[in-house]
Amino acid sequence: MSAPIANHAQTAKVNLLGLPEEKLVAFFETLGEKRFRATQVMKWIHQLGAESFDEMTNVSKTLRAKLVECAEIRAPEVVEQMDSSDGTRKFLIRVEGGSVVETVFIPDGERGTLCVSSQVGCSLDCSFCATGKQGFNRDLTAAEIIGQVWIAAKSFDQLRPGGPRKVTNVVMMGMGEPLMNFDNVVDSMNLMMADNAYGISKRRVTLSTSGVVPALDRLNQYTDACLAISLHAPNDELRNELVPINKKYPIAMLLDSAKRYIESLPDNHRKITIEYTLIDQVNDRPHHARELAELLRDVPVKINLIPFNPFNLSNYKRVSNNAMRRFQEILMEEGYITTVRTTRGDDIAAACGQLAGTVNDKTKRSERYRAQFTKAEPVRILAP
Ligand code: SAH
Ligand code: SF4
Repeated sequence: MSAPIANHAQTAKVNLLGLPEEKLVAFFETLGEKRFRATQVMKWIHQLGAESFDEMTNVSKTLRAKLVECAEIRAPEVVEQMDSSDGTRKFLIRVEGGSVVETVFIPDGERGTLCVSSQVGCSLDCSFCATGKQGFNRDLTAAEIIGQVWIAAKSFDQLRPGGPRKVTNVVMMGMGEPLMNFDNVVDSMNLMMADNAYGISKRRVTLSTSGVVPALDRLNQYTDACLAISLHAPNDELRNELVPINKKYPIAMLLDSAKRYIESLPDNHRKITIEYTLIDQVNDRPHHARELAELLRDVPVKINLIPFNPFNLSNYKRVSNNAMRRFQEILMEEGYITTVRTTRGDDIAAACGQLAGTVNDKTKRSERYRAQFTKAEPVRILAP
């Protein structure tokens, strides 16, 4: 199939929303403008939510006119915003090409965590993940990734002087595998952390990966954000089943790479977050917990247990509360900081692994997957 014909009027303009500071400076240099212009414009976009150059009153009229000609500030389109009774807010965001990705805001006291998507679908096909079952369409651009933060912050009136600081944390745990979209993810995470943009501390921005080791190996050259590893199994045999990329980059290789990343950070007291989705009878037995404790003995970690969120088209079941408590107890007895992620936004299908969006699947995987189910249930991807 041939690539869609680009709309020349759109592609000719540079979308400034997705440019991190150095790229924005370089862009202004091409216009013969000084560095501070980039800083001004960056603040207008990311701290004041400007959507047009006209609003930028401290930028000269001549420069504004020039910018209108060659640049734009273009965020993806929000098709729906849903608010859960527990304060969780989910955005359905349509990106170019028509697919819909999801972004979720989860409040917790003073903290507000935004769960951001990095791809339209995901190619890695973990057996327990709704996004994976949707197949893969394409990487999100940096503008589409940072655009999710911009959209959420604007929805809370955060982008004005003295606006409420609602989005305090970002986790790259929405749809997609961030390390499969390296450059755009790194650019947008750097914008999240930039003082002239959102100014979120590097301790509050987390990249979550299922283990693309070559990309993880070079991550520290580009960012010093926090790292979460989606482990889900204490040995290769089981992890091969749950997280297929493990066949290429097995656990020992992944943990080594993660350790190198965390140890390379200047503030070397940080820990890797190990994410472990508990699935009934699959990986939730006490012997799994003991094996996990043994495996992680020499790795600086904290462990986050996530109860599996069932979705149509999956035969797995949620862990029982007893099994989850026992699993946590064993890890804590072994000396690990172990938290349980509470399920939030259930009524709007905003929990982890329920983020499915509407992916125009190029891999046709979703069709093949559905065909496996003889007793077809209605496919509920987007909750009302
Ligand atoms: N691709 C990245 C980030 C997105 S997934 C990764 O895999 O880390 C974010 C987290 O949600 C991962 O830890 C993932 O394993 C978990 N997850 C996926 N499907 C889930 C489900 N059905 N129930 C609970 N957690 C799930
Ligand atoms: Fe992709 Fe992460 Fe889902 Fe695996 S868990 S299919 S890597 S989004």
